[in-house]
Amino acid sequence: MIQRIAVLTSGGDAPGMNGAIRSVVRCAVSKGWTTFGVRNGYQGLIDGLFEPMGTREVGGILQRGGTVLGSARCEEFKTFEGREQAIRSLNRRGVDALVVIGGNGSQAGSFALSEMGFPVVGIASTIDNDLYGSDVTLGVDTALNIALEAIDRLKVTASSHQRAFIVEVMGRNCGYIALMSGLAGGAEAITLPEIDTDIEVLADTLRLAYEHGKSHAIIVAAEGAKYNAAALTEYFKTNRDRHGFSVRSTILGHVQRGGEPTAADRVLGSKFGLGAIEAIDRGEFGVLVGIQNNQITTTPFSEVIGKSKPLDEDLLRLARILD
Ligand code: ADP
Repeated sequence: MIQRIAVLTSGGDAPGMNGAIRSVVRCAVSKGWTTFGVRNGYQGLIDGLFEPMGTREVGGILQRGGTVLGSARCEEFKTFEGREQAIRSLNRRGVDALVVIGGNGSQAGSFALSEMGFPVVGIASTIDNDLYGSDVTLGVDTALNIALEAIDRLKVTASSHQRAFIVEVMGRNCGYIALMSGLAGGAEAITLPEIDTDIEVLADTLRLAYEHGKSHAIIVAAEGAKYNAAALTEYFKTNRDRHGFSVRSTILGHVQRGGEPTAADRVLGSKFGLGAIEAIDRGEFGVLVGIQNNQITTTPFSEVIGKSKPLDEDLLRLARILD
């Protein structure tokens, strides 16, 4: 029977993680369980940085970005010995199950830990949206809205000067934020890691926009695309005659991670927290809690890790029609 659980946040922080922590703790309390918060991800697990967390400890955090537990990257956890040490820490505290809130790498860590026999449930949380087993991950809606706000602002200044702006957005090897923010921001072109960009076609699109008298052009570039901001800037520097605009480049970077979570991410984090506690209550371990077709789901780590999520073909088609 479950009596004690622990929760940690790992890898890149994502807006909404606090909502998930709050929900895990409060849903556990509703079952009569004790919860420990682990500081600084897997490093804190190895170092034994546990603190009891109750209903009051998670008050006032729902609207805050980042993670109140702190996050870290931990090379030691990738070793068998590191994970053995982590399991010793968990056992010393009498923890029956662990909830890991994090992205792709963190869930590979969850998988490795559960393969060693420790009961783990993961919560899909990363702004990269690159986790198989969840249509969207926690934090991506906030990051997307921050990117969109930046695009809208750049459009205003771009149109005053007949400029083209390259806006680079995050997402590692997943083009979700680029595709969605490009669509929502009315971008003239979008470059993605999953799709080969014909740079000559992209340049023609800009040229045409210029000749038709457009006052500005926006190119949204995914950081993981072959033509990211640096590569596009280089191309346009050496091919000035290929377009009429004066080109500027902005890399949004970690700004996208820093915002207060949107309503969608607060609610998603809360739902994921409940999903994790219900999975533990059912004795279902070694799974990732995600959302698929608007339902909270669990998917075995063995089906999640090592798989990449394909881009939505319909969205891609739409972006091509609308640019
Ligand atoms: P994210 O979870 O945001 O994708 P990382 O890829 O940096 O972040 O992973 C976070 C942490 O997860 C790593 O620092 C490491 O401690 C752990 N981790 C990643 N991959 C593995 C793995 N294959 N085995 C065990 N632990 C891993």
